[in-house]
Amino acid sequence: MKLRVKLTLGTVALLALIFGICGSLLISASFDAMLQSERQSALGSYNTVQNTLQLVNSISTQSGLEDIVAALRSLGGGSLWDGVFLRTGDTLLYASGGIPDGVTPERIDTRTGQCAVSYWTGEGSQYLQVSGSVNVNNQRLSVYILTDISHIYDLRDSQLATYRRLLILTVIIGAAGSWLMAALLTRPLTRLARASRKIAQGDLTSRANVTSGDELETLAGEFNDMADKLEANIAELQDSVRRQTEFMGSFAHELKTPMTSIIGYADLIRRRMLTAEEEQEAANYVFSEGRRLESLSIKLLDLLILKKRDFELKVSSPSAIIAGIVRVMRPQLSEYDITLRYRAAEGRCLLEPDLVKSLIINLVDNARKAMDSGGAIFISSEMTDTGCTVSVTDNGRGIPETELAKITEAFYRVDKSRSRAQGGAGLGLALCNEIAALHNGKLDIRSVEGKGTSITAILNGGRADEA
Ligand code: ATP
Ligand code: MG
Repeated sequence: MKLRVKLTLGTVALLALIFGICGSLLISASFDAMLQSERQSALGSYNTVQNTLQLVNSISTQSGLEDIVAALRSLGGGSLWDGVFLRTGDTLLYASGGIPDGVTPERIDTRTGQCAVSYWTGEGSQYLQVSGSVNVNNQRLSVYILTDISHIYDLRDSQLATYRRLLILTVIIGAAGSWLMAALLTRPLTRLARASRKIAQGDLTSRANVTSGDELETLAGEFNDMADKLEANIAELQDSVRRQTEFMGSFAHELKTPMTSIIGYADLIRRRMLTAEEEQEAANYVFSEGRRLESLSIKLLDLLILKKRDFELKVSSPSAIIAGIVRVMRPQLSEYDITLRYRAAEGRCLLEPDLVKSLIINLVDNARKAMDSGGAIFISSEMTDTGCTVSVTDNGRGIPETELAKITEAFYRVDKSRSRAQGGAGLGLALCNEIAALHNGKLDIRSVEGKGTSITAILNGGRADEA
């Protein structure tokens, strides 16, 4: 059964129960009180009659039944009773009041000085009867006082009818109210259920919009947080699958081009169809393409090893590493008319020196390839609280802003043919990115097209000056 229906039925049942108990208690208490009051007044009337008759009897011991009846008649009745009956034995001596003909009191014999109260129904009316007796001249006279109490019963019946109507109205209003309340209360749950159903069906953007300001809003908030994380995780997973597929595609493509060249030229050499000069050229192609394949496989291997991330960082001096690189690379670069300068802050931090060396060499190599003829490369290093930074700045051709986000992806190159001509596979920056990540850091790439590029590796392996 739906929660809303359960809540409504529960509330209505509770309402009907409480209203039912309270209503009937109230009506029954009021009925009892009125009955009690009628009883008291009937008893009062009976006392009046009894006293009067005894008085008449004591004043004159000679008084006969006529005097007694006369005294009773003189009392009149009015508000004292609805009916009075005086009887001796089987003889009715006196009857008066507005009691309809045919209604006779119950015959109840009591001892003198005592009275009895009884209730009975006659001719469609309810009566309260006080029965008693007086001794007159050694003769026992029975006195019955009757009060018509039908109006009390009528009042109770009309109260019950009104009460029943009120009960039905209360149940209807209560049902409508509790249905609305239940709808209001269960709305957040409905929204939560709808959102989770949509997510289960694959719509990961679905969220539960609950602003009830209570525990359900907290629950919905936590549900939405969970959905956010789920969405992010799945997006990351999809991205990783996409990258892997792209990687495989690019890798196959990178292999295919040199392989085709190598096979083509090797075939020409094999068939001895070339002149000595052409043969030399073909052999050169086979050699250079083979080299490219070798470099590609080395870098790929490096990338694979880096992904395992089980390197131990050692206390190292970035300035010493940079000085060593500059010493080796400066003569090579001068051949391209490129100057290489550096400035490195003194200090030691935790690094994997061979990997950092490879990172800097890759950045310098890229800088070199970004220049057509001559230029300047500047390596700088700063110490930071959590390690160090190493920047390589050049005044080469720069990188278009739209490409900046993509150049760290494996096999991505801004100008594919130029990179290929320069022997590149598009893996250098992917490697650098992995090396920075291994030092809890990242690459910060800034470039202005036509002016130059500055790539900073932020390395957060930790400071080690104290060691
Ligand atoms: P590999 O490094 O595998 O030999 P690559 O140098 O082409 O090949 P990456 O080092 O990953 O590959 O660089 C990716 C691309 O980013 C390069 O092809 C180049 O287009 C661009 N790039 C990188 N560094 C610079 C730079 N300093 N100036 C201009 N473009 C750059
Ligand atoms: Mg490179």
